[in-house]
Amino acid sequence: MAIKDVEKKVNKILKKGQEGSVVAPVRMDRDSKFCFACHPGVPCFTDCCRNMNIILTPYDIVRLKNRLGLTSDAFLHLYAEPEMLGITMLPVARLKMLEDQGGKCPFVTPDGCQVYSDRPVCCRYYPIGLASLRQQEKGAGDEEEFFFLVKEPHCKGFEEPTEWTVESWRGDQEADIYDKMNREWMELLLRKKSFGEETELPEKARKLFYMVSTNMERFKSYVFESRFLETYVVSPKTMKNILEDDVALMQFGFEYLKHAVFGAESDVISIRQDILDKTVKKIRKRRKKQQAKMKRIRMGRK
Ligand code: SF4
Ligand code: SF4
Repeated sequence: MAIKDVEKKVNKILKKGQEGSVVAPVRMDRDSKFCFACHPGVPCFTDCCRNMNIILTPYDIVRLKNRLGLTSDAFLHLYAEPEMLGITMLPVARLKMLEDQGGKCPFVTPDGCQVYSDRPVCCRYYPIGLASLRQQEKGAGDEEEFFFLVKEPHCKGFEEPTEWTVESWRGDQEADIYDKMNREWMELLLRKKSFGEETELPEKARKLFYMVSTNMERFKSYVFESRFLETYVVSPKTMKNILEDDVALMQFGFEYLKHAVFGAESDVISIRQDILDKTVKKIRKRRKKQQAKMKRIRMGRK
């Protein structure tokens, strides 16, 4: 796709985002500059931490529950509620705002965000949005990234003199690590989206998706205390990593979902050959039975 066409597409996206909204229609790259600061001295400090629709990514939950010293069960019970995510119709967790306290975030205090260094990705990138365009003509996987400013009129942070580039802002917000951790999960959402809204996953698959997306302790029990390891081949190195580290377990979970729910190949996990042979045998037997039944019906009709 020529750069002119990419720009046309970008402008269309930005224009769409502009309809009664807050996106400044300026395409930015990593060197683009802007002024912004958020600190207790700004008159709107903490005003925006209420009535937010914050979808928690799996990495957000791992960081937050570890920060608070909670199990995933306790974290979900106290701070989250399940929700079906738009067009993907996949269950995800949303941060529960305090309805009886004017919809404020449970982590906001007069001094600011109580979980600042582990706050969710959605709070983290503001005021810079990231979008990407797939460059179909260059081949699958080639993507053009661009950034844009989310400039809300009530946000006084833009009146502060502190100057950033998109790159320095992203560095300050740990954006690269969050992008890396969320990429595979986002790809699962896109996979489901590509099936179309009308294609609903079976209940078991939806439950698996929610467990892997929200609850590492439950997923660990599922791997080590069920028949999981009798069905799948997992290398000893991977086993050691996922036993010791929540993030490794989360990434393994994405591979498992990709393979078991979306039927894609995985380098990390595969079904055991004897189980595969058994399943193939079963399918063949069932097919043979069906063919015999059809034959009998046809003969009977004659
Ligand atoms: S998590 Fe922190 S930054 Fe995000 S809305 Fe809550 S208080 Fe504000
Ligand atoms: S509105 Fe802007 S400056 Fe004010 S607290 Fe929110 S992010 Fe910070």
